[in-house]
Amino acid sequence: MHLTNEQLNEYLDNASTERAFIETHLDSCDECAARLSAFQALFTDLDSLPEVTLSRDIAALFRPRPSLAPQLPPWLTLTASLQAAAALVALIIAIPFFSVMLPQVEAPSFTTWFFEIQSLWTSWLDTLSTFQLPTYQFTNLPTYPVELSTLFIALAVVSIFWIFGNGLLLRNRHS
Ligand SMILES: [Zn+2]
Repeated sequence: MHLTNEQLNEYLDNASTERAFIETHLDSCDECAARLSAFQALFTDLDSLPEVTLSRDIAALFRPRPSLAPQLPPWLTLTASLQAAAALVALIIAIPFFSVMLPQVEAPSFTTWFFEIQSLWTSWLDTLSTFQLPTYQFTNLPTYPVELSTLFIALAVVSIFWIFGNGLLLRNRHS
């Protein structure tokens, strides 16, 4: 059984815990002794090589350049678009409920427009609430429209904050 390269390397590095065993083997094995001197010569050559400084800083290639703003990955812009669409939908859904909550201070035409949408929406809601699943009676829940409106308004508010937050984030990244 000859010495392994690891054993020879550790021996040369003075890191071996089995120096006595290795030296005994080297005394009796010309092959391992030859390999050891080959390693020794190699390490001596490596040590004698001058320190070469690269003409080009390779590490700089892997550092992000601060002058360039990081490009937004496509999925992020897609996410932002989807968020905008979701917020718009939530806003449209919540408009009738906002019009109920807001005091009637808008211009008459605007209010009329709101009420038209609202009546459309409430009629649709009526259709929805009278729709009965065979096993469950939705009409037995008197607070159903109130809970729904609260949910939609909360959704719309959250979405709007989300969009504004994203917009702020993107603007900060580009500046
Ligand atoms: Zn050997």
